[in-house]
Amino acid sequence: MPILVDLFRFCEEARAQDGECLVRDLPRLLAETADPSAPVRWQAAGRVEAVAGLYDDQGAPRRRRALYLAAQVQLGRDCDRCGQPMEVPMDVRARLEVFDTEAEADEAAMAAADDEFDPIVGSRKFDLLAQVEEELLLELPAGVMHEVCPQPARDALTGTAIASIATEPVAADGSGLREAPAAEGRTTRPFAQLDALLKAGATAAGRKSRK
Ligand SMILES: [Zn+2]
Repeated sequence: MPILVDLFRFCEEARAQDGECLVRDLPRLLAETADPSAPVRWQAAGRVEAVAGLYDDQGAPRRRRALYLAAQVQLGRDCDRCGQPMEVPMDVRARLEVFDTEAEADEAAMAAADDEFDPIVGSRKFDLLAQVEEELLLELPAGVMHEVCPQPARDALTGTAIASIATEPVAADGSGLREAPAAEGRTTRPFAQLDALLKAGATAAGRKSRK
């Protein structure tokens, strides 16, 4: 069930839209996860913004359409160590610059000074939800593990529990283990606020790097 918008007008009229779906509604994400029923919350906002340092022939700041997206999900994955299910909190944000054609997007990407520039090609029937899915897929962790697995793996021969593998960070100089930070994976990060992303605007702080 796509969420279709005229992306050019969405940006030019500074529209905003948000919604919630389930992981099972996003087929490419579904293929990567163990829990189809997890809810995915998303927010989108359009803007037209001046591009820092770029001017047109008349000396006016060059302006570009930008699409801001954010999405949050507690993604169900299987732990790589014990194989049991776990939840991976995802909280992704993106600022995408919207171009009319692939050629224009490519040209702008080549002229961009940094590698955090994310061009997309807009359309009159642009699927916001497919782009949300794309952003989640880009941020998907390659592998996940419990900090402490609920049931330690058992030695196949003796049946005795094997101690959990230490995951505390080792100091860079090799001087040994430091005290592990108190952070745990599930509830420490609040949901992204799209407002904060919008306030960050075109500044470097508001961008995310794309690997
Ligand atoms: Zn585990």
